[in-house]
Amino acid sequence: MPMLQLYNSLTKGKEAFQPADGHTARVYSCGPTVYDFAHIGNLRTFVFNDILCRYLRFKGFEVRQVMNLTDVDDKTIAGAQAEGISLSEYTQKYTQYFFEDIDTLNIQPAWKYPKATEHIPQMQQMVQKLIDNGHAYVADGSVYYDISSFADYGKLSGIRPEELSGSAEFSRLEGDQYEREEAGDFVLWKAAKPNEPAWDSPWGPGRPGWHIECSAMSTAYLGPTLDIHTGAVDLIFPHHENEIAQSEGATGQQFCRFWVHGEHLIVEGQKMSKSLGNFFTLRDLVEQGYSPPAIRHQLLTAHYRQQLNFTMEGLQQSERTVERLNTFIQRLPRLPLPEGTSEQAGEIVARAHQDFEAAMDDDLNVPGAMGVVFELIKQVNMMIDAGQLHTEDCEIIFEFLTEADSVLGIMTQQLAAAQVEPILDEEIEALIAKRQAAREHGEYEQADEIRDQLTAQGIILEDTPTGTLWRRG
Ligand code: AMP
Ligand code: ZN
Repeated sequence: MPMLQLYNSLTKGKEAFQPADGHTARVYSCGPTVYDFAHIGNLRTFVFNDILCRYLRFKGFEVRQVMNLTDVDDKTIAGAQAEGISLSEYTQKYTQYFFEDIDTLNIQPAWKYPKATEHIPQMQQMVQKLIDNGHAYVADGSVYYDISSFADYGKLSGIRPEELSGSAEFSRLEGDQYEREEAGDFVLWKAAKPNEPAWDSPWGPGRPGWHIECSAMSTAYLGPTLDIHTGAVDLIFPHHENEIAQSEGATGQQFCRFWVHGEHLIVEGQKMSKSLGNFFTLRDLVEQGYSPPAIRHQLLTAHYRQQLNFTMEGLQQSERTVERLNTFIQRLPRLPLPEGTSEQAGEIVARAHQDFEAAMDDDLNVPGAMGVVFELIKQVNMMIDAGQLHTEDCEIIFEFLTEADSVLGIMTQQLAAAQVEPILDEEIEALIAKRQAAREHGEYEQADEIRDQLTAQGIILEDTPTGTLWRRG
C-alpha cells in the first residue's frame, strides 16, 4: 500500500504519514475568529484542511478533526462593543455564517467545533499546570509564559529568542499577534480590563490569551499528542510556536507529530485588504453569479504550499472547467453505446486510479490529481468518438470519478444526480401524499425535504388550490 508523504513544517521535509495508533488520525485545525465573514483566503485554508481530511479517509484512516472557534479575543470584543450587543450574540451570528459558508463550499464538517468561551476551565487548568511546572508566572493579575524556561522554544519557526536584539525575557506581550523581532514572554491569562468580558480565576478576573485555547482544547478532545496540526503559514509564529511551548510545557509529551501549513491566497497579485477593494467573501462571489463548485475549484488550483493568486479570470476559467466536468457526467449515461466492456477502458481507468493516488500521496498534489481526472476524460472522449466505449465501461468510469470526488468535492451534486435511478410514477405520487400529510401536521421541514428529494430527481411540483401537480423537468 503506497503511503501518503506529507511535508512536515517541524522537520522541514516530506515524511510518510501514519496515525500514531495506526488507524485514527487526530487532526487539529486552527479555526476562524468569528468576528466577521470569512474571506476567500480563510476559506482557501479551510478547503485545504478539508482536502487533507478527505484524503486521510480515502487512505482508509478514521479521522477525528477538531477545529476551534475563537469567540473571545480583541477583535470579537471590539465588534460586539461597536454593535452594542453581547459578545455571545455577536459571535453566534458569525459562527452561523461560517457554518453556512463551509456547507456551500462542500467542506465536510469537523468532528467537533469547540468554542473558546465554553472551555475556560480547561484553559485555566493548563495555565495552572504551567505555573506549577515553572513555565509561567503571575504579574499584576495576568499570567505570562516564560519563554526562557522552555529550551525548545523556536523549534518550529526557527526563532532564537536569545539572539534577538534587546532582552527577550523582559518583554511581556499583551497582544495576541506580534512579530518575530518582538518575541518575548506571552500572555496566557489577561487581567480584566473595564468593559471587557471576564471570568473568575485563581489569579483574579480576566480572560484567556488566544494561544492557550488551542493547546487546552486540542488536549481536551484529542489527547496530549496530535497526529497533525494545520493552519496557514501566518500562524507558525507566534501562534503555533506558543502552542508547542504551552502543551509540551504542561504535559511533558510531544505535542504534535506533523505540522502542515498552507500558503496564503493573494488577489490579483496583491495582499487582500479592504482598503485595496480586493477583499472578497464567499457571498460576494456567489452574488456575482459564480457557482460554489467553481469557487472551490479555484481555491484548489495551486498546491497548498504555494501562494494562490486569485483572479476573476481564473475564477471564470474554473467556471468553464467545472462546466466541462458537468457536461461529461451528464452526457455519459445518455450515450447510445454498444453493450459490454472494453479492455482499453479498464486500462485507462486503472491508470487513472494509480496516478490520482500517486499525485495525492505526494504531499497532496491536488493540481496533479485534478490533471489525472481531465486526462481520463480526454481519453474517454476519444474512445467515444472512435465508437470504442461500451455500456459497462461507464460504470467503472463513474466509480473512478466518485472516488476522486470523495477527495476533490467539486462534482458531488452532478454525480449524485447522474446516478439516481429513474423514479417511478407511483413513487412520486406516494411521496407527494406523504408531503401533503406532513404539511397538514405542520411538519414543514419534512415537507420541504420531500420536495427537495423530488427536485433532485428532476421532478417539479406545483401547488395549486386543488392539489399538487407534478411533471418531469
Ligand atoms: P482567522 O479567522 O483570522 O483566525 O483566520 C482563519 C484562518 O485563515 C487561519 O488559519 C489563518 O491563518 C488563515 N488565513 C488568514 N489569511 C489568509 C490568506 N490570505 N490566505 C489563506 N489563509 C489565510
Ligand atoms: Zn490555533
